[in-house]
Amino acid sequence: MNTVDPYYSRVVCLAGGVGGARLADGLARVLPPHNLTVIVNTGDDFRHLGLTICPDLDTVMYTVGDVANDETGWGRAGESWRTMSEVGRLGGPDWFSLGDLDLATHLARAHGLDAGQTLTAVTGRLCAGFGIGPAVLPMSDLPAPTLIETDTGEVLPFQVWFVRERWQPAVRRVILPEDVRATAEVVRALETADLVLIAPSNPFVSIEPILNVYPIRAMIEDVPRAVVAVSPIIAGRAVKGPAAKMMAEMGLEPAAAAVAGYYGHLIDGFVYDAQDAGMIAEDGLALLCTDTLMSGAAGRERLAREVLAFAAELME
Ligand code: GDP
Ligand code: CA
Repeated sequence: MNTVDPYYSRVVCLAGGVGGARLADGLARVLPPHNLTVIVNTGDDFRHLGLTICPDLDTVMYTVGDVANDETGWGRAGESWRTMSEVGRLGGPDWFSLGDLDLATHLARAHGLDAGQTLTAVTGRLCAGFGIGPAVLPMSDLPAPTLIETDTGEVLPFQVWFVRERWQPAVRRVILPEDVRATAEVVRALETADLVLIAPSNPFVSIEPILNVYPIRAMIEDVPRAVVAVSPIIAGRAVKGPAAKMMAEMGLEPAAAAVAGYYGHLIDGFVYDAQDAGMIAEDGLALLCTDTLMSGAAGRERLAREVLAFAAELME
């Protein structure tokens, strides 16, 4: 038997915020650091209080760096809020919560960007500060803001819809920018990838913005020996956030099978939850049915190992 050892494969993981961060953390616990690259959505990024905020990059950094607040799914553990409450008292905006420790990230990032460094370079430096081994790369160094068109026809910047409006306005469509290019670092990672994993992130506002960056989708169609996605939908519901609600609003059944259908021919394998056992997929799509809820570090590590073992069979 000639089994591929997934621990010697070059793995690229596409990630949004909390679901992506959890799988990335599991992978970081089991793969040699130089074999893992995490490509992160920056469609949520925005300017606020004069700072560039990168919510998904920060969630991935904090989670893999072991300083995340696991209850909220964003921000840092042991956070304090003195600066933010004073900003509010002084009449500044306080609808987007930025803790004191979190603000340090945004200030350090602003300093690097102001000095002319790329977001990729700045993120690399921040990751070093959090003791992160694997490469964590923004999908692009260019701004690529995601917009949400609601059912009233109003077009909202992503964070206004997500945070200020608490993702309540129904979504008619997600508007992604044209002509955004991937960085050389992203292209290099994909060129040498054996395996691409699509994390259990929101398919529409976390994964699609990454695939929309040229030439990421085309490279994923061509290069790796296997592409495997993990379902963010368990028993018809999102673990966190609007994925299931958005699916219903956009005319899809909120179900794991619909996520697999959405990725279509891009993926060779699909990992879905034991609560959805018996899911029927298109011909040619390999399935792994397991517990996909990543509770705690042990749960993340377990799922990462299972996903890698499943992918190894597909890479043979
Ligand atoms: P965020 O919305 O920016 O935080 O980013 P994501 O798109 O990565 O995260 C939201 C998605 O992660 C939701 O659809 C959740 O269902 C999914 N998710 C979060 N935690 C888990 C988990 O432990 N297992 C699975 N399968 N999905 C998860
Ligand atoms: Ca996000």
